[in-house]
Amino acid sequence: MNEELLRAAALFAPFAKENFLLTLVSRGIYNRAQKDYAALGEKPRLSAEQDRLIVTLPGAEVHLEKDFAKSHCSCPAQTNCKHLLMALFAAAELVPAGAAEEAAETESAADDGSEADQGKTESALPDAPALALVEHAKVYAASFLEKGFITADQTDAARCVQFSLQFEGEGIGGLSRLFRGIADDIENMLGKNSAFHPGLAFASVSRVYNTTSLILAHRDDAEKCSALIEKSRSVYRLIKRGEFTGLGAYPWQTRSGYAGVTALVFHQESGRIASYTLSMADYYEKTKNLTGIKNLRSLLYRQDNWDAGVSLKQIGGENFGLWNFRLNDEGRISSAGTTHYIQRKKTAMSDIAKIAVTLAGEKKKKDSDGAEKGEGYFKKRRSAAYRIIFAAGIHDCVFDKLSQALTFTVELVRGGADGTGDETDSESCVEAFIPYSEINADAIRFIEEQSGLNAPGHGAQNAFPRYFICSSSQRGLVPLSAIGEDGVENWYFGGKGL
Ligand SMILES: [Zn+2]
Repeated sequence: MNEELLRAAALFAPFAKENFLLTLVSRGIYNRAQKDYAALGEKPRLSAEQDRLIVTLPGAEVHLEKDFAKSHCSCPAQTNCKHLLMALFAAAELVPAGAAEEAAETESAADDGSEADQGKTESALPDAPALALVEHAKVYAASFLEKGFITADQTDAARCVQFSLQFEGEGIGGLSRLFRGIADDIENMLGKNSAFHPGLAFASVSRVYNTTSLILAHRDDAEKCSALIEKSRSVYRLIKRGEFTGLGAYPWQTRSGYAGVTALVFHQESGRIASYTLSMADYYEKTKNLTGIKNLRSLLYRQDNWDAGVSLKQIGGENFGLWNFRLNDEGRISSAGTTHYIQRKKTAMSDIAKIAVTLAGEKKKKDSDGAEKGEGYFKKRRSAAYRIIFAAGIHDCVFDKLSQALTFTVELVRGGADGTGDETDSESCVEAFIPYSEINADAIRFIEEQSGLNAPGHGAQNAFPRYFICSSSQRGLVPLSAIGEDGVENWYFGGKGL
């Protein structure tokens, strides 16, 4: 048989599954297509044109396109017709079992080939935790193919985001992106968004299934594995040892309801703020009540990170050492199989004073580097993700109904925003805000309470000065946690005592 024809047929064979076809047509049309296909006097004629497969049936010619959504039939039907299904049956019949997977993979490897020479992986062969994850994803994709895309719900969307994050953490970029795309597809489907296309969505799931199957089948073949494991856009590097200072933790939630908690830490060796995130996705499966701050608080306290079983609260609240961890260019920390945690001591204000000096030095260096290279504005804008401010007090607290955010002014300790006494840092106060959401309710209450605390006649003497760790964007500063006399305060989770 013609090899080109076989290759083209193999692209479409995975679509010839009942569950998928029933997302395209009604049961009536599906049954009719099966009956008519079985009754065909002679096999339909197939020909390949690049990656297009042309199937000639009695009374109709079907063009199956590589971009499956663009496939069409010559008959007058306005919607998906029985011929389309019959053409897929013909393609499937042509392809021996197993060959479909190989062909689908060749195609996907060629797709993103442009990235093949970017970055460097630690090793071409996936390690045991990566293989376990691949295995897990394969089982998940298989069950997905089994029950059909239309049965997917919010739980599946969250699970796919979780897979995406996990694969990124393992440096397996291709699967990470596929899962991110499937999560979007599910969201679009649930939202009855016209961006949803069942054919393409199904193709993504079958690609996950094919890729995971092939990785598992070739787990000892370094060359094949490195072709299958496309690197993450942002490559994680394995780092042997690091020293960290916890800077607090805060909850977050996306518009689609996906939520988690991130701990911020200062990484001494790189001189920058890094983050370690847990998401609620694995909670989704156990409880539907997922977005509340209560559940996020339990995530903060859950003691199951790294070999010592530390909580996010502890990671964000203490100095510690870490052996064998991964870090990417965005400063995201990910565990390796053998990450080892060493407890040091509680984070104190004196630690933050030193860090503020380091960050101020880094910023100045970056600013002047950027100016010399003529990168100017854009470069600078990208680099400022976090900022530490030394607050003397909070005032002018107003809930802005228009932007649905609490806006307030943070008065800075004199001698520079970062306590370095830098002459050029002449600001005496900065504007900050916290957007309103259910999970930010405690944080908004806390800032309101803090406002005017050190005003004359007020009882609380020790509330200020304290450091605030803020995320910094074009819209302004958003305080995420604080470090005062008693150490780190995670006031998003209720109260100073946490
Ligand atoms: Zn037709």
